[in-house]
Amino acid sequence: MKSFILLIAISFFTCGYLAAQSNNLEITKQVAAIEKAKFDSKMENKAPSLASNNFTVNYYRCNWNIDPAVRYISGSVTSYIIITTTTNQVTFDLSKALTVDSIIFHATATSFTQKNNQTLVINLPVTLNEGAEDSLTIFYHGVPPNSGDFTGGFSQTKHNGTPVIWTLSEPYGASGWWPCRNGLDDKADSIDIYITHPSQYKASSNGVLMSEISNGSTTTSYYKHRYPIATYLVAIAVTNYSIINNNIVINGKSMPVIQYIYPEDLSSFQTATPIVLNALQLYSDYFGNYPFIKERYGQTEFSWGGGMEHQTNSFVIGAGTNLMTHELGHQWFGDRVTCGSWQDIWLNEGFANWLADMFYTEKIDSANYKSNVLADLLYITSAPGGSVWVKDTSNSDRIFDTRLTYDKGSFLVRMLRWELGDSLFFKGIKKYLRDPKLSYGFARTADLQRHLQQVSGKNLDYFFNQWFYGEGYPSVTVKWKDSSNNKIYFTVSQTTSKPSSVSFFKLKKLPVQVSNGKSKRTYILNFKTNNQEFVFNSPSFNVKSVVIDPDNYLITKNNKVIAQTLQPMTDISSVVVNPNPVTSSAQIVLKNMKGKVQMFLFDNSGNRMWNKEVDATTNSMTIPISFSAFSNGTYTLFVYDDNGIKHSVTIIK
Ligand SMILES: [Zn+2]
Repeated sequence: MKSFILLIAISFFTCGYLAAQSNNLEITKQVAAIEKAKFDSKMENKAPSLASNNFTVNYYRCNWNIDPAVRYISGSVTSYIIITTTTNQVTFDLSKALTVDSIIFHATATSFTQKNNQTLVINLPVTLNEGAEDSLTIFYHGVPPNSGDFTGGFSQTKHNGTPVIWTLSEPYGASGWWPCRNGLDDKADSIDIYITHPSQYKASSNGVLMSEISNGSTTTSYYKHRYPIATYLVAIAVTNYSIINNNIVINGKSMPVIQYIYPEDLSSFQTATPIVLNALQLYSDYFGNYPFIKERYGQTEFSWGGGMEHQTNSFVIGAGTNLMTHELGHQWFGDRVTCGSWQDIWLNEGFANWLADMFYTEKIDSANYKSNVLADLLYITSAPGGSVWVKDTSNSDRIFDTRLTYDKGSFLVRMLRWELGDSLFFKGIKKYLRDPKLSYGFARTADLQRHLQQVSGKNLDYFFNQWFYGEGYPSVTVKWKDSSNNKIYFTVSQTTSKPSSVSFFKLKKLPVQVSNGKSKRTYILNFKTNNQEFVFNSPSFNVKSVVIDPDNYLITKNNKVIAQTLQPMTDISSVVVNPNPVTSSAQIVLKNMKGKVQMFLFDNSGNRMWNKEVDATTNSMTIPISFSAFSNGTYTLFVYDDNGIKHSVTIIK
């Protein structure tokens, strides 16, 4: 799902795709509508699924009667259920605003009660044992609760003077218009949807349109979908749609791409359709074939202020590139693999945002990509705290928080890619999407972490603890000096924006780029502890400037670079190591040092092997150092006093 609220929030920084999507007046109208809808939603007590846990749903057959001119629904839903705990009672999610007329079980009406404003308790005339498969049909009618934002399911409005009804159920709105299991623990294996509507209109829904049968003044449109589907991804829309038919061949497999568009917007969608086709190909190349390739992909225009990734059929307000590619990306991340809790909504939204960014970078405008990344960073770090992990899943505003779920979530994906490198990252993501336990089912953040760890052999606990559960970001300071002995030294420290949550961010690949104005060289620092020292061979030019994370792979802000002047060696003070070469231990002899003296021993790869700090209290001091645990090779000892580096000694073992 993508709301224009989030686009507005960052439009001061990035408005390229926004401008392409809609004019300002339309946006203003949308925002006003959304704000009203948000107010409306607060008037109702929306809650997660209260369906009983003693059954799962295998299949739904829905018969709905819809007239876009009237905010009303009637019909029936037949559910094929599997009992998971022996029982004679099952509870569905259904708003009490809807009236249940009857429930037929084994061809006989059975008793029921509607409770808690949102549950339908069905009393079965027999006890069904664990493992039993059965079915029941719920007949109902009524006016769905008047919400209209993403916590409400059912909206009726007009476009260009013509009435339209469309649904958007994420996260909890499905039970506002149909009886279902409305949670993130159960996908029906398949669904059939029959929509009877006035004949002058077209109906759009999930899967393949099998038939449109005229009944005189009404038509029944039948959609068949044979992939597992989460309840919140079921959707319908009815109005005077114009239809754009296309076809795409993905890795030799042909598939229709069908768009249901308001007639007044037909030309703008026709112009933008190649973007959808290009993105279908690009995403299939990166993440495996489009997940519902045996059926189709499509879009349906609706009047909510953004888009929604209904399975096989994204609902979109316009033909903007970012919106269309975001919603398409969800077919892999959100629909094929669905977040298993709203705590993990970034698995849907962070990835969809990142896929839209990827399309933009590769197909539209790589030159301006960096300014978009910078805009995201500014927005992410505009507040000191907030985690990508959603603590309060009863709050849909938090679930769909732009800064945390979309932008910071997307940046987590970017950081994981940088951390692991392209090859391992894409391998891990493909394994995650194809895992039989997750694919066409549900996943938690730990499932993603497990796959990335398996392919990389790296423990990523620190990453998810600091970036997913943890809040805030680091501000990094790099002090550097380029020495006459062909070495460059960095001392790296950080403060964090919310130390009570994360006191130190491990940055295992911190890029530090040095330059003389013409040439550049980037050093990758494994930044594990505060005031960490690094020494590398100098570049083949005199360093004039240093930039931290020049390509913005990491979430940081207010970074600082401090150049330190190299102190010339004095004639008086000296450092001698005896013996040298060394076998197992040696003595460091310091002469004429002043103040605090810091000693660091580095191996040939720049790893710090040993360090010690002493107070120079006498003119001659002897410090023992053991080499017994170190392998044979060349080492460099650096000795600093209060004025900075004084000496370096090469030691051979
Ligand atoms: Zn989305």
